[in-house]
Amino acid sequence: MATVETVTGPIDVDQLGTTLIHEHLVYRDEAVAYHWPHAGSVKPATAESVDSEGGVFEAALESARAVADRGVKTVCEPTGMFGGRDVEFSRRVAEETGVQLVPCTGIYTYDYLPMFFATRDADAVADLFVHDLEQGIRDTGIKPAFLKCAADAPGITENVDKLHRAVARASVRTGAPIMAHSRPASETGPRQVEIFEEEGADLSRVQIAHTGDTDDLDYIERLLDKGVFIGMDRYGLDLFLPTEKRNATVLALLDRGYADRMFLSQDYCASFDWYPPEVLAQFDEAGAATNWSMTCIFDQVIPDLREAGMKDEQLQTMLVENPKRWLAG
Ligand SMILES: [Zn+2]
Repeated sequence: MATVETVTGPIDVDQLGTTLIHEHLVYRDEAVAYHWPHAGSVKPATAESVDSEGGVFEAALESARAVADRGVKTVCEPTGMFGGRDVEFSRRVAEETGVQLVPCTGIYTYDYLPMFFATRDADAVADLFVHDLEQGIRDTGIKPAFLKCAADAPGITENVDKLHRAVARASVRTGAPIMAHSRPASETGPRQVEIFEEEGADLSRVQIAHTGDTDDLDYIERLLDKGVFIGMDRYGLDLFLPTEKRNATVLALLDRGYADRMFLSQDYCASFDWYPPEVLAQFDEAGAATNWSMTCIFDQVIPDLREAGMKDEQLQTMLVENPKRWLAG
């Protein structure tokens, strides 16, 4: 039986159960958190500042308990370098709530990299990722289950290209699957897939995250034609695409037979440091992310998809079977 690494140790793939493929129990820049811990993070649901460790932890527990109440057994946390990956924090959340948390290794940047990486090539960066996958993260003994990289508005810059190749090479060396943050508005997806293909990565283990930010079916099918998974994973973030359009896109793709290639998730951050509370409050007033939460798909989306014809079997495929196939092959 294939196993999947979690922050509380490896589990049989059949133990994954209902899985949210893309959520963050905490999201903050580790350098800022180190140098100015008082500056703190914000809880999006309330625009409430959570500037102490206790607040950040409580916010994570609240989201983890909420998803557990909806029957979720596992949450994948695509939080890498620059997102404040903290697998010991996640282990405390997992131990406290019983939710299985699946960590990653990788770097989240749209271009910038510290000098350390400027003077090292893709193979040297791949060595770091392989270290995590084979030896564990820092001295925790916790191993990641997948690789993460990102491309956004700046496109495939030299640094982004290097990180995609590093992730692909680490995947080829270890068999670990890949999740790539994408930006459909900049059409980053096809080039990201092309790099993975050039590096010989197994495209059936590649997931192009945030594909659900567009309702351009031609763009989406260009990706699907390559055999990758796609993340319909930002439900509640209406600023990128409102829920009705996300649903129409998912339903159209279900009609075309792609249930076995899609993930439903929210890319929610139980707390994060990107915005000061007053900016977040303005977002709320503008309706940019009013329903964003770690349970949005269960409370607001799945009932509507069901009513519009989604079958239970298709839902089971997206929430249970696809995570197993992406994570364990
Ligand atoms: Zn994310």
